[in-house]
Amino acid sequence: MNPIELYKKLPKKNCNQCKQKTCMPFALSVIKGEAELSECPHLTNKEIELLKGSITKSDWREKLILSLKQEVRNINFRDIAEGIGAELKEDNSLAIKCIGRTFIISPDGEVTTHGHITPWMKILLLHYIRMAGKGNLSGKWVSYSELKGGMVKAFSFQRDCEEPLKELIDRDFVQTEKIFIRLGAERHKGFPTDNAWCLYLLPKLPIMILYWPREEEFESKLKIIFDSTADRFLDAESIIFLVEGLVKNVEVNSKFADRNEVIEGNTFN
Ligand code: SF4
Repeated sequence: MNPIELYKKLPKKNCNQCKQKTCMPFALSVIKGEAELSECPHLTNKEIELLKGSITKSDWREKLILSLKQEVRNINFRDIAEGIGAELKEDNSLAIKCIGRTFIISPDGEVTTHGHITPWMKILLLHYIRMAGKGNLSGKWVSYSELKGGMVKAFSFQRDCEEPLKELIDRDFVQTEKIFIRLGAERHKGFPTDNAWCLYLLPKLPIMILYWPREEEFESKLKIIFDSTADRFLDAESIIFLVEGLVKNVEVNSKFADRNEVIEGNTFN
């Protein structure tokens, strides 16, 4: 079934309850494996089951997940849990907190959480486990370009992570700070701006968000810095993806600003 065929079977209410603008992008996301049919509240369980049977997802990410799972199966979680800051459960699975949500990874690499989980989230978490970083955080903050492999991707990091986050804070400082706090961020002192929030995106991957509001002729500015050990736990490219996940999360939560809870939409598309 292709996206058009799936679209024809959807309720076509274009109501946005699946967090997609209309039913068409939703159909596309389902075929690409980025959304689940159950995210459309207008489909009955029976309809979902019927549709599932005729959808063939051709997603290379599924293949990547399979190969990461194979690698993770060969890792003894007991050996790496402490190093990556994960909690080892009685059944030998790992509990890992990522951008305010707890994920469970079973010894055979299955990733679950209470809510929707995209292929990208699975890839990121399996990769974090596979890197099996260890050691204490240094407490020394460095820029993205100072991390291993960061220099060549510094422009992408600024464009895809720092700029959009700055725009969200520019748009609504109070609301964005509330979302940071809900995700577990804490304000810190001792930085060149009073607006400094430390947020753990993964147990061993804290970031410090530094924001300077607009002042007279000076434009607002935002910088994200990392503990100097960050590249032991994730490579530079995955770090971009992780921070992009934060930006998307803040975006989604800004749209539901009146709710007093963290919305768990497609953090990673
Ligand atoms: S929730 Fe269902 S009906 Fe509404 S836009 Fe999404 S797919 Fe369409």
